[in-house]
Amino acid sequence: MGKLFSIGEVLIDFIPHQKGIALKDVESFTRVPGGAPANVAAAVAKLGGTASLITKVGQDAFGDFLLEQLEEIGVRTDKIIRTKEANTGLAFVSLREDGERDFSFYRNPSADLLLEDTEIDGDWFQRGDILHFGSVDLVESPMKGAHVKAIQAAKWQGGMISFDPNVRLPIWDDPQHCRKTILEFIPMAHLVKISDDELEFITGITSQEQAIASLFTGDVKAVVLTKGAKGADLFVQDEVYRSAGYSVAVEDTTGAGDAFTGGFLYQLLDLDTGQHNLEATLSEHHEQLLAFANASGALATTGKGAISALPVKTEVLGLMKKTTGS
Ligand code: ADP
Repeated sequence: MGKLFSIGEVLIDFIPHQKGIALKDVESFTRVPGGAPANVAAAVAKLGGTASLITKVGQDAFGDFLLEQLEEIGVRTDKIIRTKEANTGLAFVSLREDGERDFSFYRNPSADLLLEDTEIDGDWFQRGDILHFGSVDLVESPMKGAHVKAIQAAKWQGGMISFDPNVRLPIWDDPQHCRKTILEFIPMAHLVKISDDELEFITGITSQEQAIASLFTGDVKAVVLTKGAKGADLFVQDEVYRSAGYSVAVEDTTGAGDAFTGGFLYQLLDLDTGQHNLEATLSEHHEQLLAFANASGALATTGKGAISALPVKTEVLGLMKKTTGS
């Protein structure tokens, strides 16, 4: 079975104890590990796969905490570099009463953004491995170059590239810069996961069908469109495979998309999927792939936080069995 490599941010999310107030009025917080690429690596590790995170954290207490948490869940941390040049990234997010999110990011720059392309070793990757990335660490920084190097190296070795744009506008100086950067990286991926609420922003196209079609550029062979509680659709060649979501008691939807992606990629690794057989594998196993990923995403919404709510494989299979009644 191949390995998952996830490159990008790992950071501390500070979750307010008081809900529904402006960030400036929050008095106390709980710290939890966050960062989409870290969540995806954690999802794959928790399901029983081999997952490594490629990033940098500060030589500080928060870096120690993140490494401990990742190791506890089984993520390999040997490709995480420590630095004294910057602190570990922090994010404070409060949901105000009017539904607006109030953000404060401490990444000017944070340690993850300082990973250099020279710190990526092409020999890490092998045929059968998957490299996954997002857009939060594609802001202008050494880390953007590290992504390009890792993508090229993984591809050169025959690995598959997975991209979840995961739009986070508050970290960009200008929304168009975010959009342009995402469009620059989409053609480098074989598999693109996008959620329905960001499709129009990224493509600039209102019609869903045309928007999806526009994503098939460069190396893109398949697109997964996630639709929250409504499940997900998989587009490959001229086919679309639709799947319903699972009905669960939702507690917190943070990280559902990452749990979905982790579930999807875990199975692709299990099925020995590479660039050469991606389309064939997706067409043959679409039902199982989508059901497993939907169950993984759904279960992640039943607990608080992203990493702490990730399911193990028996829980995913249990939900799939219970719902189909088989
Ligand atoms: P993102 O978190 O990236 O915005 P979505 O909100 O589309 O992505 O969620 C990703 C996947 O997680 C969905 O396709 C679905 O399988 C699962 N999911 C998300 N929200 C729910 C929910 N309320 N109930 C059941 N499953 C959910």
